[in-house]
Parts: sequence; C-alpha cells; structure tokens
Amino acid sequence: MEENQITSLSISEDLYGLSSATARELPEPDLHILTSGALRIPVHSSILASVSPVLENIIDRPRKHRSSERVIPILGVPRDAVVAFLRFLYSSRCTAEELEKYGIHLLAMSHVYYVPQLKQRCTKVLVERLTIENVVDVLQLARMCDAPDLYLKCMKLVANNFKTVEKTEGWQFLQDHDPWLELQILQFMDEAESRKKRTRRLREAHSTYLELSEAMECLEHIFTEGCTSVGPYDAELKKKKEPCSKFSMCEGLQQLIRHFATCKKRVNGGCLRCKRMWQLLRLHASICDQPDSCRVPLCRQFKLKMQQQEKRKDDARWNLLVRKVVSAKAISSLALPKRKRSDQELQLQDQTHNHGMRSFRL
Ligand SMILES: [Zn+2]
Ligand SMILES: [Zn+2]
Ligand SMILES: [Zn+2]
Repeated sequence: MEENQITSLSISEDLYGLSSATARELPEPDLHILTSGALRIPVHSSILASVSPVLENIIDRPRKHRSSERVIPILGVPRDAVVAFLRFLYSSRCTAEELEKYGIHLLAMSHVYYVPQLKQRCTKVLVERLTIENVVDVLQLARMCDAPDLYLKCMKLVANNFKTVEKTEGWQFLQDHDPWLELQILQFMDEAESRKKRTRRLREAHSTYLELSEAMECLEHIFTEGCTSVGPYDAELKKKKEPCSKFSMCEGLQQLIRHFATCKKRVNGGCLRCKRMWQLLRLHASICDQPDSCRVPLCRQFKLKMQQQEKRKDDARWNLLVRKVVSAKAISSLALPKRKRSDQELQLQDQTHNHGMRSFRL
C-alpha cells in the first residue's frame, strides 16, 4: 500500500499537468482518489468540485466520521486512465496518446462525472478511430454514455458493413447479452434502406417535373419559332430548318402535335396520345403568363375555362403539379454541389408529393 501512495511533491507536475510554479502554489491536497491496483492519488477537493458537479456532490456529502480520511474510489478503469482523467480536471489538457489509449475509459468517466469538454474530445477521437472490430463495443458505450454523435456514426458503420460486423466477437457478444440493442441496430438498418428508396423515388419524381418543364419550353418554341416539321399556324415553315438544341424532346413533341391534329379518335374517343397532348396544352396554359399574345393552341380557351372553374376543389392537385413543374426548373438550375442540399429540396417536395404525373411522359 505504502509504495503505491504518490506524494504530492512527485506528482505536482506529472499528474496535475501544470507548470511547477503553478503546482507549487496549490495548497496541500485534502482528498485521495483510489484507483484499481490500490493506487491513492492525492488531489484537491476544490479543484475537482469546480470542474465536475458530480464530484462536487460527492465531496459535499456529509461524512460519517469527521476525522475519517476522505477517499473517492474510481475503480473499474485502468489506473493510468484515471490519472489522465485527473490531469484533465486540473489542466483541461489531454495528450493525443492518452486519448487514443484510454478514449473509451475517458468517455465513460467524463459521462459519469459530467465533464462535457472532455466528453466532446473523447467522442471526436472515438469517431475517428472507429473500426469494424471495435464498432459494436463503442456503440454500446455510446448508448450508455449518451453520446448521440458517436452513436449515429457507429450505427451507420454497422449498417454499411453489416456482413463483416456480423462476424466480429463484439456482435456475437451483443447478440447474447443485449438483444435490445441488436433490435435497434436492425431497425436502424431497415429505416436506412427505406430512406434510400424514398430518396430514389423523389429523384425520379423530380426528373419527371423537370422533363415536363422542358416540354413546356419546347412547346412554346415550336409554336413561336417553329422547328423542323411543326411551326406556328400562320407562318410558313422554312425549308430544311436545323434541329434545335433540345431536339430529342422537341421531335417527340412535334410528332405528338401532328398526331393530335389528325387523330380520328381524339380525347373523347379515348386516345391516350391525344389525352397526353391535351394535358400538356392545359399545363402550358396554367403556366403561361401572356395568354393574349401567346401562340400555343388552346392557351386562351384553357385560361378562360380555368377562371370559371377557379374554386373547384379537384383543381388542387392540378395546381400542385403546376407549381412543381415551375419550381423544378428553378431547382435544377441552382448549382447543387452538396448532396445534402438537393436531398433537402427533395424532402420539401416530398411534403406535397403527387403521384399522378407519370402519365405525362412523352
Ligand atoms: Zn425544336
Ligand atoms: Zn389521338
Ligand atoms: Zn400560352
């Protein structure tokens, strides 16, 4: 016992992590920390209490015998980890080596004794040092120590590498001893999968809106300038006009327009192509802000009809579609370097998601 006792002189610099001048100014230690291996470390109750409210509570607790020596045991972690912890309490410093070696112990102690600055540093280091081998252990610790960033990072690593994680000792131990956490992990993976699906679905929807928005531009181009085989009704088509820059879309539209002009069945006869054309013309009219000078067929007629029907309830879905086609263009023309940002926009769209536009495909 005697040899394990560190004198306050020998630890003044090492342990407290203070300069010798500062350490010499400290009063005599009035408290001992007892670590595993029966090491007793002399410390100052005032300093411990000022950094950790939990230690402050323990220190202020009334003692049974006034004369008895004051000892606070911190057992169950390596003694050097306790030394590193105490050094942080004195100096707010921790070496990279200590953090690497005792990261999980320091996290546990910083949680138990409520030292948020240390907890933050441990979390950061542990996030950086996550491996397939240690992820399950760190995950359990993160949950126990209420470290949400670390917890989420672990969950993601497990979800993305489940096949390998499943083979680790940590996972096997978890299965035997912590079925609740196992369930949480499986649930997280399930949700991650459906999140992915949802994003994919939204991307597809977004590209449909964008396609519609391009179709609207094409329609105006065809009926204003004219393209290779279709043009405004009152203008002669120039012979051998060059295909425009969006010809793959434009050509499909021109075929559709020609069909619409000559079809015998028409919309009322149940022709799907005609119906598609009808919807595109209606969509144009909904977006068009110059119906008086507009040259797209039926634009004014649709506008008039819309004014008459403005208050009808079943137009809500249609109006939503119109807004989305208009915003699809604006959204796609923004530079979106980060995936996050476009996901956010897709999420915004998702709140008013409408499944009815598939039929508009050309
Ligand atoms: Zn064209
Ligand atoms: Zn038709
Ligand atoms: Zn128009």
